[in-house]
Amino acid sequence: KENAVNSEEYLYVWSLFYKYTHTLTLTQLYRQKHEWSLSDFELGKPLGKGKFGHVYLAREKRTGFIVALKVLYKQELEEGKVEKQLRREVEIQSHLRHPNILRLYGYFYDEKRVYLILEYAAKGELYKQLRDCGKFTEEQAATYIQQMTHALLYLHSNHVIHRYNCLCFLVKYNQPTTNVIRDIKPENLLLGLKGELKIADFGWSVHAPTSRRTTLCGTLDYLPPEMVEGREYGEGVDRWSLGVLMYEFLVGSPPFEDQSGYRATYKRIARVDLHIPDHVSVEGRDLIQKVLVCACVVSNPLNNQYTKLLQHDPENRLSLDKVLCHPWILKYAKRPSRSL
Ligand code: AMP
Repeated sequence: KENAVNSEEYLYVWSLFYKYTHTLTLTQLYRQKHEWSLSDFELGKPLGKGKFGHVYLAREKRTGFIVALKVLYKQELEEGKVEKQLRREVEIQSHLRHPNILRLYGYFYDEKRVYLILEYAAKGELYKQLRDCGKFTEEQAATYIQQMTHALLYLHSNHVIHRYNCLCFLVKYNQPTTNVIRDIKPENLLLGLKGELKIADFGWSVHAPTSRRTTLCGTLDYLPPEMVEGREYGEGVDRWSLGVLMYEFLVGSPPFEDQSGYRATYKRIARVDLHIPDHVSVEGRDLIQKVLVCACVVSNPLNNQYTKLLQHDPENRLSLDKVLCHPWILKYAKRPSRSL
């Protein structure tokens, strides 16, 4: 059927099929045929637009497998000087296998374009969902943070660490070249068919400003104090940004946002000038402080058990393992004991 690839019914049937067979079929196909071309796919509706090209819903003709096909223009990649980075990160991304990390099944190219065969994130952008509902419930936020933590643990175990790409804060990252560079922020997260979180960004990918935050400050909100102060930084940055993400999920805006400009935001980050609204649960407040706060409040009985997550000093930040068994996650996340 023409346009069947866009129909809800097709997607539903496909999702049942996918549940049992998705890894098998694509992996088998991938083994059989390494060289993809555009003629292998039937293109469906456009899913979105990024800085270097467009993303389309597509169906692999032989299996009927639904994917998102990202079409990047070589000339724009050249002009943006991101070809090398793209090549390196595509190589790494294609080896990552985690339910909360967007799969990259393969890639191919023609004279003018590079095509990335990506897992289709049926529920779209998490950022859009957050904007639509203002803020998430504690249950939603805890479930996403739990999934994010599982994905980060997986990335760390594969020596993949995040780096921040930021307009006016150029930081050289002295890590082995095998590391993928990512930003943790709602703009880089997509949602799968069952609403599960998927880390989707590549470090080279610069998002179109129209669909994203409009202020310059918006791009700086997730920087940790060690970067703002120009100190050395490492894995601890992920845990800090996990705390910022958690705050933004629960409150609807990032904790150190300051309308008067990026300098003010920097200052607030360096001081860990944190105000948590009253509606946030006791457990949620405790976990945010464990990753964000400097010398934190000791009057809370929960504090004795865990060191806090938004800590000024990276060494004091709660470890990812401990985030997973924090009372907030155990109480509110839908599946406390394992990843989705
Ligand atoms: P990007 O170039 O990665 O910023 O993608 C542009 C837009 O396309 C995103 O904001 C999403 O709305 C959409 N998009 C990108 N990748 C996917 C995907 N794998 N599944 C569904 N939508 C996607």
